Amino acid sequence: MERRIGLLGGGQLGQMLCEAANPLGAKIWVLDAAGSPAKQINARTSHVDGSFTDPEKIRELARQVDLLTVEIEHVDTHVLEEIAERGVEVTSADGSKRVKTVEVQPSWKTIRTIQDKYLQKDHLTRSGVKTAESMAVEGSDLEAVGRELGYPFMLKSRKDAYDGRGNYPVKSPADISDALEALAGKSLYAEKWANFRLELAVMVVKTENDTSDCGKSTIAYSVVETVHEDSVCKLVYAPPRDVSILVQREAQDLARKAVGSFPGKGVFGVELFLLPDGELIVNEIAPRPHNSGHWTIEGCPTMSQFKSQLLAILGLMPSFPNSTIPAMFPATVMLNILGGKTQASHNKLMNMAIAIPAGALHMYGKDSKPGRKIGHITVVGSSLSEAEALMAPLIAVADDIRA
Ligand code: ATP
Ligand code: MG
Ligand code: MG
Repeated sequence: MERRIGLLGGGQLGQMLCEAANPLGAKIWVLDAAGSPAKQINARTSHVDGSFTDPEKIRELARQVDLLTVEIEHVDTHVLEEIAERGVEVTSADGSKRVKTVEVQPSWKTIRTIQDKYLQKDHLTRSGVKTAESMAVEGSDLEAVGRELGYPFMLKSRKDAYDGRGNYPVKSPADISDALEALAGKSLYAEKWANFRLELAVMVVKTENDTSDCGKSTIAYSVVETVHEDSVCKLVYAPPRDVSILVQREAQDLARKAVGSFPGKGVFGVELFLLPDGELIVNEIAPRPHNSGHWTIEGCPTMSQFKSQLLAILGLMPSFPNSTIPAMFPATVMLNILGGKTQASHNKLMNMAIAIPAGALHMYGKDSKPGRKIGHITVVGSSLSEAEALMAPLIAVADDIRA
């Protein structure tokens, strides 16, 4: 594993990527604030302290590595374009300068399209992938949007959104001024409300740069059900509860088609809505490991989403029959740990997780803040009902400590 990997972002996704890299002998240089979660557990390299939105810091990282990747899409794609297309200037020990080639995966074009959720939806629609109807609202009158989309509709920030921060459900014309105030200063778009029966997600690995044959270049993990509360992911069920095998296959095919339309390699999280009539539409795509794929650490122990990310960007991903990576346990359930009212609110939940032999606790080394994702718990079972029964008391405590 000789190629040096540079990672933009050092949060929990970066931390788990480093955990997957260590046994592979892969080395990751991280750009983020000093002491960020990924740096806490990776002393193999000299990281770069700074922001993953700072072009000079990104160039500094690029000078040290052969390949750049991301754990967050909210990065400066113009400097990634510059580095991918023209390389980065390095100074040798004798003072001479040369240009070094650095690969960027997934492609900066993909990150640029996906980081603007409105452009992302436009791209998906043009690629034949259905999403919730979207309207740009720049300068337009939200009452007119409400008349067009109906109520409720979701007002969304086009950029920098995560964990529902950037979403405002507009239930009636009376909510419009509060919605505009809550999302002030952001470029916005509006989405038709999706009255989904439930939410599904599929992690997809893309192994080729081009977009011509998604059948050959994409591999799908098993479908999961995600449960969100106030727009934040709370629970993940693998397999989903009460979803036919046929619909699960359709979800995998749709997710592969969607990811296949983006250039570059890596792992992608595809969030889907299952509508009451059985139709599937894409909610959004993340060009990186994703919360809905954490279950793979225990559920697919030899091929977690983090290992796949590394193997895909390095061009080392093995092939899988039927282009699918099957779950290796019959059932896996994951619960996010969100910070509660105090720093100690979640201690009981941690102790309960540790006491389950078929459970795994992952704390990210982040300070607890109300509502912040600070860790997660996974349980595996020989059936979904067994895994659900193990998780039920933990869900009750998580509900109790909710800030
Ligand atoms: P993250 O990136 O953390 O998944 P986000 O901030 O990008 O979240 P979205 O995925 O757009 O936000 O929305 C978060 C949740 O809000 C969805 O999972 C879903 O539960 C709900 N939601 C989003 N869009 C709609 C919609 N059009 N209709 C109904 N519910 C929606
Ligand atoms: Mg998102
Ligand atoms: Mg989302």
